[in-house]
Amino acid sequence: MTTGRPWHPLRLHFLISSARHFAEGLRREGFTVEYIKAPTTVDGLRTIQSTYGNLPIHCAEPSSFTQSQALAECGVTFSANDFFLTPRDLFAQWASKQKTFVMENFYRAQRVRLGILVEAGQPTGGEWNFDKENRLPPPKNYTWPDYLEFAPDEIDEEVAAELGIQAPRQWATSREGALRALDNFIENHFAEFGPYEDAMPADNWALHHSLLSPYINNGLLHPSEVVDAAIAAFCKGGIPIASCEGFIRQIIGWREYVNGMYWFLGDGYRDNNQLAATRPLLPAFQDPAKTSMNCVKSIVGDIKERAWVHHIPRLMVLSNLALITGSNPQEFLDWMREQFVDASEWVMVPNVIGMGLHADGGKMMTKPYAAGGAYISRMSTYCKGCAYNPKLRVGETACPFTTLYWDFLDRHREDFVKNHRMSQQVFGLNRLSDLPELRERAQEVLEGLSKGEI
Ligand SMILES: Cc1cc2nc3c(=O)[nH]c(=O)nc-3n(C[C@H](O)[C@H](O)[C@H](O)COP(=O)(O)OP(=O)(O)OC[C@H]3O[C@@H](n4cnc5c(N)ncnc54)[C@H](O)[C@@H]3O)c2cc1C
Ligand code: SF4
Repeated sequence: MTTGRPWHPLRLHFLISSARHFAEGLRREGFTVEYIKAPTTVDGLRTIQSTYGNLPIHCAEPSSFTQSQALAECGVTFSANDFFLTPRDLFAQWASKQKTFVMENFYRAQRVRLGILVEAGQPTGGEWNFDKENRLPPPKNYTWPDYLEFAPDEIDEEVAAELGIQAPRQWATSREGALRALDNFIENHFAEFGPYEDAMPADNWALHHSLLSPYINNGLLHPSEVVDAAIAAFCKGGIPIASCEGFIRQIIGWREYVNGMYWFLGDGYRDNNQLAATRPLLPAFQDPAKTSMNCVKSIVGDIKERAWVHHIPRLMVLSNLALITGSNPQEFLDWMREQFVDASEWVMVPNVIGMGLHADGGKMMTKPYAAGGAYISRMSTYCKGCAYNPKLRVGETACPFTTLYWDFLDRHREDFVKNHRMSQQVFGLNRLSDLPELRERAQEVLEGLSKGEI
């Protein structure tokens, strides 16, 4: 986990320090703990076996196909993975009955199955989904609550020293810290979670997002206690239904759906490249100095600082750029996987291959999330300080997103013209009188991006 790939140091710190805190907690509870360092989990198990003989080894189902296979070959006995609310076989039963895997259908069934925000079979508040109230642009003259910080303890300092970094303060590495993060979300952010969940203001990196994904993914928090805390706060009053429903949908809907799809779609799914995208990873992803696009520069800079940005920069800026530049899905997936504090195989693969890059030919999402500069301009404050103009699609100052959005549709006319959710956008190409110039500018932009000069 620490060598062989350029993992983000904050991600490594979070995972290693959480593991050491967990080991310490077990010792305090009276367990005998053997904490060893080894190149891989399998090597570690072999070391233990050589010390203690062939003891039976029990393990929760791992969160990737690769790890499952490696451990199964090692003779490990698996127990069901309880980091989720939906057993894999239950999800497979739902999925195998669907014509298309629409998340909204799964989510409504989850609400009923789990009895969350449902009264007599009907949705609390009269609607299943309040998304239309939740897509506001960044607010003006708004005071955001302070960020929560976590003072490093001895274990955090020790891990940081091993990694050669300053001990970070952004992410908790213990159960106590994760519970503080949950309380902080419920007390200071939950009520306003909904309206600004898609906004990207340059002056605030977290908005009212919960910042809980790392803890739910590595087991410091269980999704059911997050749901219980949210529902208890909602029942007490003062939490608008649009914020409550929006948050519950992320936890019992999106998170469970993505995990279910990972296992349902199978091991080969990660290798999909149905749009035949071959461009090597853009230099701008690795180094913010390699681009003048203010949105990309700022977001990649944020990732370097915290190993995290929220859902919309991941989808509508980073993945969108990889999609419309025709970047190789597996190279982009590897980069995302290395950078984010909350990344795991089960969650990155469907989010990148299915949702972000449409590399699965539409198996998961019926249309690609491709967008021009107008979307980013509406939902962020990045464009004001940018060298490019989101309204222009041709010329030297044209926004690369706007140029490449149209060029992407043009390149993939055949792929999308029969898709009823895309046909209107594809027909929009016929109204462009400057299509030849646009194609030329798109070539310049693509070459410039590949050289790190746009
Ligand atoms: C291209 C792409 C890559 C992503 N990679 C990851 C990843 O590696 N790990 C990860 O946990 N999430 C990933 N997500 C989903 C989402 O962006 C993060 O869960 C979220 O930004 C985490 O911040 P938060 O805890 O403040 O989330 P909030 O906005 O507060 O949402 C609450 C919780 O809902 C869950 N959730 C919401 N959407 C998703 C989703 N699409 N998939 C899975 N869980 C979801 C998370 O557990 C999250 O903590 C990705 C999304 C995209 C588009
Ligand atoms: S003009 Fe285009 S490149 Fe610049 S910040 Fe806006 S969307 Fe990003």
